[in-house]
Amino acid sequence: MIMKMNEYKRQVITVLAAFLIMTVSRSLAAEECRDTVVIDSVVYTVPTRWCGHKMDSTQIADKTRLVRLPAELCFEDYRIYVLPETRDALVKMAAAARADSIELIVDSGFRSAAYQKRIYRRRLAEGESFDKIVQFVAPPGYSEHETGRAVDMVPSNASFAHTEAYRWLKKNAHKFGFYETYPETKEGLIPWESSHWCYQPSE
Ligand SMILES: [Zn+2]
Repeated sequence: MIMKMNEYKRQVITVLAAFLIMTVSRSLAAEECRDTVVIDSVVYTVPTRWCGHKMDSTQIADKTRLVRLPAELCFEDYRIYVLPETRDALVKMAAAARADSIELIVDSGFRSAAYQKRIYRRRLAEGESFDKIVQFVAPPGYSEHETGRAVDMVPSNASFAHTEAYRWLKKNAHKFGFYETYPETKEGLIPWESSHWCYQPSE
């Protein structure tokens, strides 16, 4: 009986210790994130989802290389710019999709950090909180759209996940070098952005 009791205590202590280590390491990890963005002199803390994902200068598109997407791939009369290699791959992919009776339309490509900041300024001015905006819009400096490789498909919201176009992309996009950056299952990168695809060929 004493042996059993000791064994029980040992197990309880082990479980408690494991829990303590988990809790402490988790809060340390949370504290490690010191990323901030400054908008109109106000400093905002970047949420965990984006922490450590700031684009570095090697990832940001050289603006002089940007080219316009053909009008037939753009939503309404939007002028959308991406890198030439992104455009070429997208044109090929859209043609293949069309052959399968799927129309791929894009409503966003390259966006600069300055543009991203303007989105924040406008929405903050409209009374939205930073915490609310950041749930749907990458903080300035963190958007993959700054690379000139990312595009948003239409409809560029959660409903895209229920379209034939999304099903087609899941099956075929990789053949053209396009990947879903924030798929449903990718831990820590919620919310899921089914309409956001990035050209990242594996050379
Ligand atoms: Zn996007």
